[in-house]
Amino acid sequence: MLCHDKATGLKAVIAIHDTTLGPALGGVRMVPYATDDEAIRDALRLAKGMTYKASLAGLNLGGGKSVIIGDPGRDKSEALLRTMGRFIQTLGGRYIPGIDSGTTQDDLRVIGLEAERVSCVGEDPSPRTALGVYAAIVAAIRHLHGTPDLAGMRIAVQGVGHVGAALARMLVRDGAELVITDVRMALAKQVANELGAAVVEPDAIVSVPCDVFAPCALGDAINDDSLKVLDAAIVAGAANNVLAVPEHGAELHRRGVLYAPDYAANAGGIIFLAEEMLGHDAPTTDRRVMTIGDTLATVWRRSGEEDLPPEVVADRMAEERIEAIHSAD
Ligand code: NAD
Repeated sequence: MLCHDKATGLKAVIAIHDTTLGPALGGVRMVPYATDDEAIRDALRLAKGMTYKASLAGLNLGGGKSVIIGDPGRDKSEALLRTMGRFIQTLGGRYIPGIDSGTTQDDLRVIGLEAERVSCVGEDPSPRTALGVYAAIVAAIRHLHGTPDLAGMRIAVQGVGHVGAALARMLVRDGAELVITDVRMALAKQVANELGAAVVEPDAIVSVPCDVFAPCALGDAINDDSLKVLDAAIVAGAANNVLAVPEHGAELHRRGVLYAPDYAANAGGIIFLAEEMLGHDAPTTDRRVMTIGDTLATVWRRSGEEDLPPEVVADRMAEERIEAIHSAD
């Protein structure tokens, strides 16, 4: 849906990719796109990604995303956000908005004054995203070594922001040996002091010889350059779009590096939001987040049996769940 409101200056796109499994959950992104086409393309691409993420995580949610064309620092106003909320409300609950780049919890509260269903207005989902990545790492170690024991495992964490720092604490608790970095070096040193971790410069993290490389910063962590120096048995982290291009995933598979597809490993946040909407308590939510490890175990088993990269298998599993519902119609 293309949204335009002259009075508030709102120009936005709401993309619903698929609602077979349930209402489409996805963030509201606010970015000063150069063209409307660019905004539409981004909304469609991101909405599709949410369909796959929700499906693979076993959630009864579909995929959607919306983008507001504008500079969040300059163009955002209560009137604009309320107008966005009214457009969302016209969809009758088929799209549930959440936080994304350029929007905050407070913005979602304003949108929620007009739209009946909004997410991301409660607790920060980052600790559950970290728990999900932890589950992915434990499952990967179990897949390679036959035991989930992290004691003595060397794990390199790229980026110790909301998710990376919480993940690092869980890994140290299990006896892993950590090497960490962040472009905010003061933060990296503070986390390292707290946890007894080693610190390296941001450029050096990907070449650290380790059992697990955990990208928890930005996208494209696995690219032509990093592949030349990567010295890890497992790649599992929180970042979105870890693979710069699909061929990099094929290369990891060829080398025998076990990759946890990004949208599977970082699904803890969306699982948390789904559980919150169902009114479930913290222990139930945590148990549900930990099932990310079981999902990945299935992905890797099929990846081995079918000799396909795990991210290809993950996509197929997400599609199969949706197709099974259509074929039962
Ligand atoms: P954040 O901004 O809190 O942390 C990211 C950290 O990475 C920051 O401390 C930043 O300084 C650091 N960083 C940036 N570039 C770097 C580089 N080149 N080398 C080393 N460090 C670098 O973000 P977050 O909420 O912790 O999320 C981390 C990643 O996980 C992001 O890619 C995000 O999209 C993804 N993710 C987060 C969630 C969530 O619940 N927060 C959910 C799904 C995916």
